[in-house]
Amino acid sequence: MPQEGPSVASGTPGQQRGFEWIACEICGSSRHHLVAARTDLFLGGNTLFAMHECEECHVIYQFPRPTPEKMADYYPPYYQQYTKGLVEEKWLTRLSRCYGLRKRAKIITKQVQTGTVLDVGCATGDFLSIMKTFPRWRVYGIEPTHTALTYARQRIGLSVVEGVLNVAPFAENSFDAITMWDVLEHVYDPLDVLKDVARLLKPGGVFVVNHPNIKSIDRKLFGNMWLGYELPRHLYLFPSDLLRDLMAELGLQEVERQCLYGSHAATFSSVMFLIENRFKDPKVQALARKLLFSVVARLLVLPYFKVIDYLKLGSNITAVFVKPPDTKSVQENS
Ligand SMILES: [Zn+2]
Repeated sequence: MPQEGPSVASGTPGQQRGFEWIACEICGSSRHHLVAARTDLFLGGNTLFAMHECEECHVIYQFPRPTPEKMADYYPPYYQQYTKGLVEEKWLTRLSRCYGLRKRAKIITKQVQTGTVLDVGCATGDFLSIMKTFPRWRVYGIEPTHTALTYARQRIGLSVVEGVLNVAPFAENSFDAITMWDVLEHVYDPLDVLKDVARLLKPGGVFVVNHPNIKSIDRKLFGNMWLGYELPRHLYLFPSDLLRDLMAELGLQEVERQCLYGSHAATFSSVMFLIENRFKDPKVQALARKLLFSVVARLLVLPYFKVIDYLKLGSNITAVFVKPPDTKSVQENS
């Protein structure tokens, strides 16, 4: 592990406690360069966090990064992912989110028509609540955040395991579909997680992962303010081709790649970061938010995002992988 100092100012030595300096955990190289640095735009504070690009495999990773213990501070109970489930949204928001969630479900049923689905990092269970409405699907979730999974269990009635994938009590070849919606970039050990996905998926099963698109127009337009960096909660950003190659090594073939959902919300969030950075008056910020996220604004920009998504240049990208039906199990291979 390299012992060089932080390449961005991170305050006094006391403030640096709770951070770790790592080499690229995808390829092992310690050669990298800075691509973004900013404070936590969601929670505030003065600590500067940084993203570096590995010069060997080109994955982008946070360096230095908070230790897992320290990272808990950056996921407070009011962090937006855990505050509100689908059932509590206003009707128009709920309608819009249901539309997006059904699109996610359909990308699965295009490959596999029935079976068991595991949503890794299922949060409050919105996706599984929609997946459950599709005929002949049994749904399971796994989620490390207690408040979110309690919500999913009690409000939605879902079967959710508490924890992370590598300690979950699932047998090899358990699932016909595994999904990771905006989760891979948050984990400390993405390679191990992907290995677990390959192990838990049945032959013929489908794996769908949505993650920040480092080729997006938003990344070029907004630079440090791009939502995809989401520092310090995002640890790894994968080039789509690297992810394809890593999954191929694990025996899964990429069959589809598209900008499936969330492009306009991501772009508007990045615009809000810019506005909040420029205008400190809360009234101006509130007005900007109201205008940007209004139905009229969304409709006006619809054609732009249709084109962006078609060109696969949206802020997020969804990749679909299948495990070939003739894949032998680990035991059979050994
Ligand atoms: Zn690397």
